[in-house]
Amino acid sequence: MRPSFQSWGRYPKAEHQVLQLEWLTDRIPQLGEGQSLLPYGLGRSYGDSCLNDGQTLLATWRLNRFIEFEAATGRLRAEAGVSLADILAIAAPRGWFLPVTPGTKHVTLGGAVANDVHGKSHHVSGSFGNHVDRFELLRSDGRRLLCSPEENPDYFAATVGGLGLTGLITWVELRLKRVPGPWIDVEELQFRGLDEFLALSRESEQTHEYIVAWVDCASKGKNLARGIFSRGNHSLSKAPWVRPKPGPRMPVDLPGFALNPLSVGLFNSLYFHKQFSPRKARTVSYEPFFYPLDAIEDWNRAYGKQGFLQWQCVVPFENARETMKEILTRISASGLASFLSVMKTMGAMPPVGMLSFPAPGVTLALDFPARHARLFPMLGELDEIVAEAGGRLYPAKDARMSGRHFRLFYPRHEEFKKYIDPAFSSSFWRRVMSA
Ligand SMILES: Cc1cc2nc3c(=O)[nH]c(=O)nc-3n(C[C@H](O)[C@H](O)[C@H](O)COP(=O)(O)OP(=O)(O)OC[C@H]3O[C@@H](n4cnc5c(N)ncnc54)[C@H](O)[C@@H]3O)c2cc1C
Repeated sequence: MRPSFQSWGRYPKAEHQVLQLEWLTDRIPQLGEGQSLLPYGLGRSYGDSCLNDGQTLLATWRLNRFIEFEAATGRLRAEAGVSLADILAIAAPRGWFLPVTPGTKHVTLGGAVANDVHGKSHHVSGSFGNHVDRFELLRSDGRRLLCSPEENPDYFAATVGGLGLTGLITWVELRLKRVPGPWIDVEELQFRGLDEFLALSRESEQTHEYIVAWVDCASKGKNLARGIFSRGNHSLSKAPWVRPKPGPRMPVDLPGFALNPLSVGLFNSLYFHKQFSPRKARTVSYEPFFYPLDAIEDWNRAYGKQGFLQWQCVVPFENARETMKEILTRISASGLASFLSVMKTMGAMPPVGMLSFPAPGVTLALDFPARHARLFPMLGELDEIVAEAGGRLYPAKDARMSGRHFRLFYPRHEEFKKYIDPAFSSSFWRRVMSA
């Protein structure tokens, strides 16, 4: 899959020079003074952490070869541009699965490490870095560092969740897990309000490997924080499995007004009532369960040419109920959110990265079309609420948090700076270090 060299939210816009890497033995190109590089996977980060405006991107999508697989342990070594989709296409039909997967499979191994991505299994499996045994880090001075919890452990901790700034990851070794097959037993349950969501989360964390909830961000009053809770486990079903065909493509940019408070409210109400009974159970292939959005290629064009922002926070459990209530009340009152709103609990497994996002608590992620003057002030207020509650925002989804907030949310940033490759930089990093 050839990337577009913008971010998934298509906000902010950026101009780049793009250099391609082809082979593991390639060296990092030397640039002139004042020039910088940033590795680029498949651009599935929403904001500006995968952008390097006015500078150079180092495209990794051709570093896409598998190197070694050990069937006795599930240990896989592959080049950093191999995508999770490439891995699943081979592994899933043979009874192997990713230890952690985000909500899209079009993510490279390098990108998954650099953002220490998390998924529906965070309460049992932690984040991606928890399952990485080692990787090679190529620095601009030509050094190749083998990084693992034992070898160069400081570079390992800086690079997992290190936003691509510590050098180029050339290959990654991770552990896949054994599963009975490509099917998932899923239950979907309606919930009304945060108390029901939290009770369902507590119960499901004990019984299900995968949990996530869609929350209706347009609803108010007695319907505030209603949604559909989805939980799943790998199924023992032996039904024949057919590889899904690629889905349709969003052919054009939709006009900006297509997503408005009326259409979002209507969609959300229909979606909430789509299941006529409060509880529904079925067995589905892993694709629609983990990657419902991948079914429509280029779905980001639904937000129009101006693009959109995603905002994702995590708030510690002790403050989660009141904080989420306040955040959801403000968002529904603003009428600005779209229908893609996800809420889930995160578990206690500590991440390995200095700048990793995951933390125990409740995480909420939402999309906002980037066209309302009111949006930025409102998001600034939400950031403040998160900060007061002791939470943090996710850089992989961010295009606008202030430097003050970033430094508060990620207290190890000073320690991290020591490991930044002098030839590397990003739009995100320049923004949060200067403001
Ligand atoms: C529909 C959708 C759902 C998502 N769901 C989730 C989710 O549930 N959980 C979650 O955590 N994230 C989620 N994401 C975000 C996505 O998983 C991350 O942004 C991921 O890091 C993108 O990987 P990428 O290969 O596209 O990398 P890019 O977006 O291109 O780059 C991401 C970062 O990785 C760095 N990088 C890339 N390759 C290398 C390399 N070889 N060496 C060093 N650094 C490198 C880049 O410099 C950049 O800082 C979602 C995104 C989408 C579009």
